[in-house]
Amino acid sequence: MISFLDLKKINEPYETAFQEKLKSVLEDGWYILGKEVTAFENNFANYCGVKHCIGVGNGLDALILIFKGYIQLGKLKKGDEVIVTANTYIASILAILQSDLVPVLVEPKLETYNIDPDSVSEKLTSKTKAILAVHLYGQLAEMDMINTIANQNNLLVIEDAAQAHGAISGFGKSGNLSDAAAFSFYPGKNLGALGDGGAVVTNDSELAKIIFSLRNYGSEKKYHNEFVGVNSRLDELQAAFLNLKLPNLDKDNQKRREVAKSYLTEIKNDKITLPFWDLTENHVFHLFVIRTENRDHLQQYLSDNGIQTMIHYPIPPHKQQAFSDWNILSFPVTEKIHNEVLSLPMSPVLTNDQVNFIIEVLNRY
Ligand SMILES: *Cc1c(COP(=O)(O)O)cnc(C)c1O
Repeated sequence: MISFLDLKKINEPYETAFQEKLKSVLEDGWYILGKEVTAFENNFANYCGVKHCIGVGNGLDALILIFKGYIQLGKLKKGDEVIVTANTYIASILAILQSDLVPVLVEPKLETYNIDPDSVSEKLTSKTKAILAVHLYGQLAEMDMINTIANQNNLLVIEDAAQAHGAISGFGKSGNLSDAAAFSFYPGKNLGALGDGGAVVTNDSELAKIIFSLRNYGSEKKYHNEFVGVNSRLDELQAAFLNLKLPNLDKDNQKRREVAKSYLTEIKNDKITLPFWDLTENHVFHLFVIRTENRDHLQQYLSDNGIQTMIHYPIPPHKQQAFSDWNILSFPVTEKIHNEVLSLPMSPVLTNDQVNFIIEVLNRY
């Protein structure tokens, strides 16, 4: 069986180094917001090419803390509208709602699965105050267009970069293409911890200062609480593990692109629509997502041939039970995507033999 994502194999090469880190953190006796977190914050800020990185509990919290930080700064207020794609992972939308802001859903482009800048322009109102751009599946959203719209309309731009660590375009790198960006280090992400983890990155020093405080009970000085904060800190041990993995991120992303290149050039089947990619580093292939009309049939066929696939995602947010008010809304492009997408195995540890086998099985379908 070729597994969709072999996390054990991804982490295996680090086993000895992880154990040494565990030992040193243990011996250090400092388990929360210690030197590993600080080191990671510096390393990851450098990696993204930004001034500040704040390690937090997970990717969802990273997004929420950005919005709450801007509310604290007076740049956003309760009821402001935030434009976001209708076909994102639920976390993007939950973050907006949980910050007392109003998500305004817009259609993506079918080809890239990313937010359609024209749809953004159509949904602007006097209440629009921010755009949340998701780099879905690892491919950068059209940030030049989005930033132009934002500049013309005085909007904040926030990146949901949870799937796009290290993606680069001529305009910059994921994390430095907006006012502030959120990352997740959930184990399955391109840079994954051995548990939950997340980070905010930004060049905005005022925002960074507030988020450093908000993640830690709204307190900078122990037992002095300036803000109504939360407890959402990047774990010391996870930071230690991430410090070991970060130096290999670019190499891992390159490996993912090589797998993608094989899929794109060698899968030849009229029943399958391959994803768009301009062959640059603007895609880090967190996921390799194809489309096909009879998706469940193809998934069963692949499974019968020993190939595990996943669906990202089977139900669009506006059709979720949690958002019953939205269930009557219609987003045809989004719904088509959710009905047709299938994610092929994708990771830096897939072997050439595995990739060739997957291609061969798909070409026989
Ligand atoms: C994973 C993910 C998140 C949330 O990250 P967690 O660490 O699981 O909270 C947010 N947005 C997108 C697009 C994601 O893929």
